[in-house]
Order: sequence, then C-alpha cells, then structure tokens
Amino acid sequence: MEKKIVNNYGSFDLTFVKGKNATMYSADGRKYIDFIAGIGVNCLGHNNRHLVKAIRKQASRQLHISNYYFSDTGLEFADRLLSATGFTGGYFGNSGAEANEAAIKLARKYGQLNGGSKRKVIVTLESSFHGRTLATLTATGQERFHPECFAPYPEGFKTIKPNDFDSLKNAFDDTTAALLMECVQGEGGVNLINPEWAKAAAQAARNAGALVIADEVQTGMGRTGTLLASDWLGINPDAVTLAKGIAGGIPMGACLFRNKAQGVFEAGDHQSTFAGNPLACAAGLAVLETLTAPNFLERVEEAGEYIRNTIRNWNLPIVKEVRGKGFLIGTQITDGIKPFDIEVKCLENGLCTTTAGSDVIRFLPPLTITDKEIDEGLAIYKSTLEEFCK
Ligand SMILES: *Cc1c(COP(=O)(O)O)cnc(C)c1O
Repeated sequence: MEKKIVNNYGSFDLTFVKGKNATMYSADGRKYIDFIAGIGVNCLGHNNRHLVKAIRKQASRQLHISNYYFSDTGLEFADRLLSATGFTGGYFGNSGAEANEAAIKLARKYGQLNGGSKRKVIVTLESSFHGRTLATLTATGQERFHPECFAPYPEGFKTIKPNDFDSLKNAFDDTTAALLMECVQGEGGVNLINPEWAKAAAQAARNAGALVIADEVQTGMGRTGTLLASDWLGINPDAVTLAKGIAGGIPMGACLFRNKAQGVFEAGDHQSTFAGNPLACAAGLAVLETLTAPNFLERVEEAGEYIRNTIRNWNLPIVKEVRGKGFLIGTQITDGIKPFDIEVKCLENGLCTTTAGSDVIRFLPPLTITDKEIDEGLAIYKSTLEEFCK
C-alpha cells in the first residue's frame, strides 16, 4: 500500500499485521521477536486475552462521554491506580508529553502560590527526555532536541548534571518550582541515577521549597520491576507522570500527585477533550490487575537480570556495558559501531530492538514475555552482535 502519512519517524519499510505476546508477524509472513513492545507501551504484549476482553466489554458500553460527566470506569481506574501507587489525586491525559505539561503547569501554579511570581523554574537533568511539545522539549536536557527552527522555546527551565554532587550546590533556590527527573533515563541512554544522588537532589529541592516530580512515563507501570521506579529510587515524589504502558496500547497519560502537590489544581486549571477516556481507563484497569497479581513484578525484575547477565556472559568485545533495571535494558556498544546499524541487522534477523542515547541498544520487552521468547530473542541478538565482532 502507498504510504501517505508523514514519515516523521524515519520508519523502516516494514509493515506488521498481527502479534501474540512478544511475537509479531509482518505483512510478508515473517516472524519477529518483539524486544521493544511499542517503546514500552504493549506491556501485556500483543493480543493479550484479558486486555482485549476488557476493551471489547467497554467498547460495547461506552467509548467516550466528555469530561462534563464522570464514567464509572474512569472513577474505578483512578481509585485503583491511586491506591496501588500511594498517591491521593490525579489528572488523566492522553500521552507522556501531555502528562508532563500537566506536571509543569502544576509546578508553576504551586510556585505562584508558595513564593510568588518568581518561583517558576523547572530544574531537569542533562541527557533527560520529557516529550515533544514545546515545553517538554525545553525541559529535555539534550541540545539536539532544541533546533532553531522551533524557537522561541518557553522560559523557566534549567538543567543540572545527574550523579554529580557538585551540581546540587546552587541548583535550587527561591525561584525553583520543581525538580523534574526520570528515575532511569530511557531515551537518553538507559542511564541509571545513583539513588544517593537522587535522594540528595530531592532533599535539596524540598529544602528550597520546590516540588519533586518523577517522570515515570517510561519507567512506570512495572517496567523496572516495581509498579513505580521512584519506589526503589527512594525520592518519594510529590507528583509522578505516567503514560506508555499505562493502558497497554491505548493512548493514555496521567499526572498523579500527593503531599504539597495535592489541592493545587482546581476546576478549570487543566483539561483535555479525550482525557480519561473510558476505553483507555478500561484498558488501564486490565493492565493494573495484571501488574499487581502475585509475583508478576518479581518475575520482571528477575528475568531482566537474567537478560543482562546472559549478554554480559557472552563477553563480546563490542559490548562495553550492560545496564538497566527490570525490563528497561541497555547494551552500551564500543566506539566506532553505530547502534542503529545493529538495530537494522537485528531486524533483518527477526528481532525488534531500538536505540537510546548515542551508543546504546535498548530493550523494553513486554512484561509478559515468556522465557522461551526471551531465549529466542537473545539467540538472534547474540548472532547479530557476533556479526559485528568479525
Ligand atoms: C516517551 C517519553 C515521554 C513522551 O511521551 P509521549 O507519549 O511520546 O508524549 C516523556 N517522558 C519520558 C521519560 C518518555 O520516555
């Protein structure tokens, strides 16, 4: 078929038609192991029975009702999500960038109420990624995301260097509205944040009177082996943003809040037509039920460690480091080899992967991937990496 939508993504000339769990099939009938799950979105894999059933059931009841009213499904999802994550209130949106926009507006209003018009600055980290709208691009701590063609960018953002205690010295003051940070930098290269540094940064932000906000669009919803990554990082955020896996493949985002961030938003402050759409909330409920089932997330943690250790034990000369947490996994490749070339070769060999940062191959497999699918994918990965060692 002729492809008429804009190729904004540099997409491969490859069309997929169906999938089952972590296995996908292309239009020409080839089988692929899915180690990216739609960039962490398909957390229950493809064609998950429980998820499909929940979506079917909701679709036959109501798809959308506008936010002039409440939907029973939306209320139930909000209730369950808040009690599972330990937050007290929230805003539902449609994507990660929109969830972060909501968090930025929340922080700015909080700053206005607690320090006046000078408390507006959002502090983010170098090599972070927060989205593609103008404000979230500005929040993103990578220069390549700030091309001149989209200028002017909004004011009131500043970046500091992660894992560097010196960077905390003058980072926060009475102009800071919030510290906004990922718990593991996904797009930026699967970069782990040192928990000691993260806790010190959160404390310094709080001491200056600012909010602490975790961007868990990628790390949230079980990706790193706990429902939220901020649970193990120990920063106890006042607000958290979620999207990607939250509804298993239906577009959805959320900004959850508590503590000092609770009660900041009032009626009229922030809205969106599709926000909290009942179909997305029904899918979210099915995802949450699966993630909170006994032993489900423990297995994500263990299987993630198995993948990392397996790659390490190959002792391949082109692998510099294997890192990550749970099912957010990065292979850092030695200088001189482009990760994108490896991604292309993996795809030719039947494995879907993606890149991160400048030198990392990133895996975000479905959280439901079977041991067999993991081993099939790893076998393809090993032989592909070996081709680059010759
Ligand atoms: C993907 C991502 C976003 C942007 O989400 P969209 O749904 O693409 O707008 C924001 N923050 C992080 C950490 C992400 O990984």
